[in-house]
Amino acid sequence: MRKKFDVAVLGGGVVGHTLALLLARERLKVALVQASRQQAAGDHSPDIRAYALNTASRSLLEGLRVWPDAAGAVTPVQQMVVSEPWAEPPAHLTFRGSEGHQEPVGPVGPVGSVGEHGGALAWIVDVAALENTLAQAVRFQGGIDLVDADPALLAGGPETLPQAALTVICEGKRSSHRDALGFGYARKPYPHTAVAARLDCTLPHGGTARQWFLDGEVLALLPMNGPQGQQVALVWSVEHARAAELLALDSASFAQAVQAACSSALGEMQTVGTPAGWPLELSQAERWVLPGWALAGDAAHAIHPLAGQGLNVGLADVAELVRVLREREYWRPLGDLRLLRRYERARKADVAAMSLLTDGLFGLFGHSDTRIQALRQWGLRNFDRMSPLKRWAAQQAMGRASA
Ligand SMILES: Cc1cc2nc3c(=O)[nH]c(=O)nc-3n(C[C@H](O)[C@H](O)[C@H](O)COP(=O)(O)OP(=O)(O)OC[C@H]3O[C@@H](n4cnc5c(N)ncnc54)[C@H](O)[C@@H]3O)c2cc1C
Repeated sequence: MRKKFDVAVLGGGVVGHTLALLLARERLKVALVQASRQQAAGDHSPDIRAYALNTASRSLLEGLRVWPDAAGAVTPVQQMVVSEPWAEPPAHLTFRGSEGHQEPVGPVGPVGSVGEHGGALAWIVDVAALENTLAQAVRFQGGIDLVDADPALLAGGPETLPQAALTVICEGKRSSHRDALGFGYARKPYPHTAVAARLDCTLPHGGTARQWFLDGEVLALLPMNGPQGQQVALVWSVEHARAAELLALDSASFAQAVQAACSSALGEMQTVGTPAGWPLELSQAERWVLPGWALAGDAAHAIHPLAGQGLNVGLADVAELVRVLREREYWRPLGDLRLLRRYERARKADVAAMSLLTDGLFGLFGHSDTRIQALRQWGLRNFDRMSPLKRWAAQQAMGRASA
């Protein structure tokens, strides 16, 4: 007889692992069906990316004891500088971690006071380190059965999956089960691929995340290897053809191309590992829930990485889903549609706002109309002088919606 679970989680990415751990902590019986990203994509190289995670994500992962603690795996971002260097005069916007924090009140500061997490704006987390920590935690957590998604299971219909009162699909953008179940997923492909890489630099990054808007391209250098580090994670959003050219370069020419694009802001560069590309899209599921089914993470929505928010939004999904399940009426089953709609309602609006913001920024900074360019550069310079607005924006990015 097939084993019955309370919840089956499909997809062993960061969102799926985090959800499985949260559910097990609620004493629910969980099946985690996982095909590694490498297995699903037929790619065996480690993920070269690093994620910018906000305060809300950090607190969630710390609560589960899966915040990576390996040396250099997490680097606090003390400052972020956004520039449009080709504007006349060049336009800059600087955020400091302290701008997103409230002044301490009384002897103990409110949540979010400067002392809480050292006044960082965000943390740059090595993806492989985070995935390893999560995988280990899941292996040692009672209440979670790991189910290998062999090719037959991946290709098979929902009837081949573990039996559960609720099945949550966390299979990322290309989720086959979401599509097979007819959730509907509206896609707007961007004409860009994100090229990701690691680079060693001759100058220290100083805990600063740097982002340049370069005539339609977006280039970000995220600080790695700790506060004193000299390595950065690159995310460079460029047209598909240019991405193909960049990815075809040998490692020395690739480093030179990055160095030239950022005007040697961090001195000379050397490529570490193999750069990789991710075609970008804006997408959102039409509905997030069906009786006995829910979507979370990239399976429900995908956004441009220019604001570094995709995973932060996915982790907020699973935190909310678990809250809704925990607070359900005692007689309501886990797969009850009215219950699941509470989750959908709570998350859809937040995700729509973030999608609008990232899509708006991408459109605004990619615009070639000189009047719009002038307005944008004026906006960047003036925004830099508006302390309350900057504080608000920093708090949003840090995942403090109420702050
Ligand atoms: C270049 C780039 C940079 C980014 N930077 C940031 C950042 O700085 N900050 C941030 O918050 N976000 C960032 N993101 C977004 C982030 O990568 C995603 O939001 C996040 O990975 C989504 O996690 P997920 O677990 O939902 O999906 P995925 O990471 O796609 O994981 C899905 C998992 O499901 C598995 N799977 C697929 N199909 C099946 C199946 N049928 N059965 C079983 N398993 C299956 C896959 O193999 C995979 O392991 C970035 C994205 C890109 C492209």
